[in-house]
Amino acid sequence: MLNKKTVDDINVKGKKVLVRCDFNVPLQNGVITDENRIVQALPTIKKLIQDGGKVILCSHLGKPKGQPLPEMSLRPVAVRLSELLGQEVVFAADDNVVGDNAKAAVANMKEGDVVLLENTRYRAEETKNEDAFSKDLASLCDVFVNDAFGTAHRAHCSNVGVTKYVDTNVVGYLMEKEIEFLGNAVNDPERPFVAILGGSKVSSKISVINNLLDKVDTLIIGGGMAYTFMKALGEEVGDSLLEEDFVDYAKEMLEKAEKKGTKLLIPIDTVVANEFSNDAEFKTVDRGGIEAGWQGVDIGEKTAKLYIDALKDAKTIIWNGPMGVFEMENFAKGTKAIAKALAELDATTIIGGGDSAAAVNILGYGDKMTHISTGGGASLEFLEGKDLPGIVAADDK
Ligand code: AMP
Repeated sequence: MLNKKTVDDINVKGKKVLVRCDFNVPLQNGVITDENRIVQALPTIKKLIQDGGKVILCSHLGKPKGQPLPEMSLRPVAVRLSELLGQEVVFAADDNVVGDNAKAAVANMKEGDVVLLENTRYRAEETKNEDAFSKDLASLCDVFVNDAFGTAHRAHCSNVGVTKYVDTNVVGYLMEKEIEFLGNAVNDPERPFVAILGGSKVSSKISVINNLLDKVDTLIIGGGMAYTFMKALGEEVGDSLLEEDFVDYAKEMLEKAEKKGTKLLIPIDTVVANEFSNDAEFKTVDRGGIEAGWQGVDIGEKTAKLYIDALKDAKTIIWNGPMGVFEMENFAKGTKAIAKALAELDATTIIGGGDSAAAVNILGYGDKMTHISTGGGASLEFLEGKDLPGIVAADDK
């Protein structure tokens, strides 16, 4: 399936290798609160060190919008990375990313050395994919490796622009893993193939719903988007999240599923609350029973049972978006039940980034899933069937 060259297809001995990582980690007062993205980048970095490359790493962090904001410096990442690798990581602290520090650090590199550049978004050109910065980055290296799946849906200097000025462009192991799991699941899944979609809005997942309806055997809908589907079926949804403008679209999707013989499951009961708060009064009502003054905040127990039953024989499952307002303890039960069911299944289970990945990890089922995507937006665009510029830019095999 993967027709892109990877780090296994090149010889980097003695060469300067620029690696675009996704070190966009959450920071609180300079302390990294979740190092998962750094850990996920290690296999590629270690491979390049072992092969005798001069490993120059770059990444963005947050949205400094072209300003060298000290609170978004990658320095804490250099410190932690150095501990994880057990070797020095030289941090090139240039406000213009490719400045005197970076150039000197790279000139001094020996085989197996590691340098980390400053936050690529300190440069305003980065997100506009402007040539000047792409050329600066390319001037540092002989080979470019893209291992940042999280930004693969964006065409920026450090993942796409730079490839115009470097002869050898490949993807790293993390990128390879993401493409294989998400790509195979969508294009060549072992069946039955079930997708679970939740989260807040239909509008943000229109193309995902449409594309997945062409591929899956069963599509399960939960979360805030379920109420727009209920409305499309002519039911009242009280004060629940509702996107009036997308009711017709939901109708179309229901019709499409019917025509294709694809099962499309909507909640048969709902936990409703009298306000959007964990301290609200709440109860469970059957389908069609959401009254004014109440809003849906989670799937009910009967629905959870129905969904778990629909998952039982599945061989491939993709999950994107929580079943309810999982951040509030009282309304996390539906999401928990689905996460637990997935963890216990003998199937390929793929969690598509963002909130669902966070939910699965918070609930302690992270290591029970086959694959948890590191990219929220990128994995969604993948599931929409779009080509991601960060992948397209790598050399074909
Ligand atoms: P998304 O980013 O679209 O995946 O949406 C994730 C968000 O959807 C989470 O913050 C959930 O709290 C929220 N969400 C899930 N179910 C509901 C619901 N029934 N009403 C309002 N928000 C919800």
